[in-house]
Amino acid sequence: MIEIRLYNTLTHRVEPLVPVHPGEVRMYTCGPTVYSYAHIGNFRTFVFFDILRRFLRSQGYRLMHVMNVTDVDDRIVAHAAAAGVNIDEYTAKYITAFLEDMRTLNLEPPEILPRATEHIEDMVALIEQLTKKSLTYESGGSVYYRIAKFPHYGQLSRIDVQGMQVGARVDMDRYEKDDVRDFALWKAPKPGEHFWETRIGPGRPGWHVECSAMAMKYLGDTLDIHAGGVDLVFPHHENEIAQSEAASGHPFAKIWLHSEYLLVEGQKMSKSLGNFYTLRDLFAKGHKPSTIRFLLLSVPYRRQLNFTEEGLVQARSSVERLRNFVDRLRTPKIPVGSNPETQKRIEKAECDFDAALADDLNTAVALAAVFDLARDINTAMDREALVQQDALRAIAAMEKFDVVLAVLVDDDAEKLRTLGFGAAQLRLEAAQVEALIAERTEAKRRRDFQRADAIRQQLADSGILLEDTKDGSVRWKYK
Ligand SMILES: [Zn+2]
Repeated sequence: MIEIRLYNTLTHRVEPLVPVHPGEVRMYTCGPTVYSYAHIGNFRTFVFFDILRRFLRSQGYRLMHVMNVTDVDDRIVAHAAAAGVNIDEYTAKYITAFLEDMRTLNLEPPEILPRATEHIEDMVALIEQLTKKSLTYESGGSVYYRIAKFPHYGQLSRIDVQGMQVGARVDMDRYEKDDVRDFALWKAPKPGEHFWETRIGPGRPGWHVECSAMAMKYLGDTLDIHAGGVDLVFPHHENEIAQSEAASGHPFAKIWLHSEYLLVEGQKMSKSLGNFYTLRDLFAKGHKPSTIRFLLLSVPYRRQLNFTEEGLVQARSSVERLRNFVDRLRTPKIPVGSNPETQKRIEKAECDFDAALADDLNTAVALAAVFDLARDINTAMDREALVQQDALRAIAAMEKFDVVLAVLVDDDAEKLRTLGFGAAQLRLEAAQVEALIAERTEAKRRRDFQRADAIRQQLADSGILLEDTKDGSVRWKYK
């Protein structure tokens, strides 16, 4: 097994991944809060989780990956109360949308996707455990964590707890470093708000305790990896550590990974700036799922990602280049034979790809290995120097890369149709399809492969599947 090295926020060092259980990685990633549609900043993080899990699996690890769905928190409770519905009714639509969005971006489902509201008993039990250890106190029906009793508080985010006022409290789920205070584990109900009747009184859990309880329930006291967006380092992950380690007496996670922010055209994304996008906003503007996935994965997770219109155009053409390359490798006219030099070249690309990802998931370097290979093999094909065994070997390599990248399968149009986008304007009449195919055949005869590829792409975008047959004719069908 190749050594995988990851940057650990806790130690500020790149460290080898050494799972507690050899051959199996147990990881917890903070999932969506389903008070609205997830935005592309969220998806930057979810794509990072997906690259991580796909790469670990490609390297032969078994995975036990838990990602929570936060279906109760301040915002959900407030929105549901304002809408006059219970929280299940309120969140149902956004949970469904999130699962659809995951499928659309080819995000593999985690092994376990627990919902907070289905684990209230586990959270109550964890709070009781902390109370037994004198780490909590009650005030006005709410239960707070006494952070002064946990000497390591601030270790992950490196905040200064010196000036902290002992006994001062914060009730919000999300707050800034200036507000480092005792935080709510359990919140007393306010009039009109959703609450549960439990052994520790009526109320609802704080956001932080949800993750500690669900992570330890499914993964044990010590996780191999805990990951999330960089905005969660404080207070969320700091508080998770305080809760979990005080309760179990063991380190909570060996490695903490955090993905950086996403900017839109160089600015922080915000509704007031009009640069706030959900996936559906981008699909409505004509962007494809594979384009968005490619753009989000192309920048290594610890670098800020600037999401731009230009970047989308480039990402789209990058995906097309890869798909066209594989199509070209599949053309039946390649002569038989095998060339050891080419085989070596392909093997090198595979090694470079894995080595880049093993180096703290450097997706930029991994992609460079893929595109360099495509360029070299394309050049060989231009010279008619590529032979069949090498073409097959190159296809196998591309399929291997795609286990992690997941952009080669041309199912964008189908996915968009499933979500209700673009069905009407995309549909071509049979006569138009025939005309385009004739033009493509003619372009190929002239060796104008660029034009031929562009037509193939146009047809693919319209949901038309082409099949080049051995006798040189072309079959097609609607996907
Ligand atoms: Zn969390």
